[in-house]
Amino acid sequence: MDTILISGGSRGIGAAVAREAIGKYNVAILYKNSKDKALSLCEELSKKGAIEAFYCDVSSYESVREAVSLVLKRFGEIDKLCCAAGISQTKLFIDLTAEDWKNTFGTNVDGTFYLTKEVVNGMLQRKSGSIVYVSSIWGEEGASMESAYSSSKAAIIGLAKSLAKELAPNGIRVNVVTPGAIDTDMMKEYSKEDIEEVVSSIPLGRLGDPKEVAESIIFLLEASYITGCVLPVNGGGIN
Ligand code: NAP
Repeated sequence: MDTILISGGSRGIGAAVAREAIGKYNVAILYKNSKDKALSLCEELSKKGAIEAFYCDVSSYESVREAVSLVLKRFGEIDKLCCAAGISQTKLFIDLTAEDWKNTFGTNVDGTFYLTKEVVNGMLQRKSGSIVYVSSIWGEEGASMESAYSSSKAAIIGLAKSLAKELAPNGIRVNVVTPGAIDTDMMKEYSKEDIEEVVSSIPLGRLGDPKEVAESIIFLLEASYITGCVLPVNGGGIN
């Protein structure tokens, strides 16, 4: 059975990917702060298939190296990679510090780079593999008061499109999803009024469910003739 490695698998979209993948894949999820959530997800899903949680701070290359080597020890190889770990921050650009910028890029961009670096070697040897990054609608369109976040999510799209071309001759596909407003903990920093305003501007008239993003991620991970694709999962956009 193929193995999927999911960063951000302890909560939200990453946890939803684990729920979609279990039974079909051996599932390795990474957690940083939410160990309890990661372990209880493993307990819940272990009735359906093989799953294990591993500690990893994706912003540290050393931590990523250690986690990936433990996953490889446990499951043998990593066939599919989903990079969903991410942080967001809402701040006026004039208040944004160099530290804020570094933190956002450390998790969202460096984390994606480190994981890909560590996982791609095995894929290159096997001449087979599939990677999906979780970017954001704001990575394509930019969001007011989210300049660091939007820039980091745009960087992920650039990385995916470049790798899609570079790795295609080796049978490795790289795709991206750009979710809109999805009902996870990440939305909790917004007030009820803010969320109502966002929802009123979404053509489908509601927030997305993490399961709906997860289904799109699994689709792209398995779509054998799609690479370099940026798939919006956003209810028709946010105006
Ligand atoms: P979430 O519920 O806040 O979950 C964030 C996940 O990222 C958690 O599993 C967290 O792990 C992990 N994480 C954060 N920093 C980490 C680090 N340094 N090392 C390892 N793991 C780390 O958010 P979500 O909505 O599921 O977001 C998942 C992805 O979707 C993110 O990349 C986000 O930018 C993107 N996205 C979300 C939305 C939305 O509306 N929700 C829209 C567009 C894109 P721990 O809790 O274990 O630390």
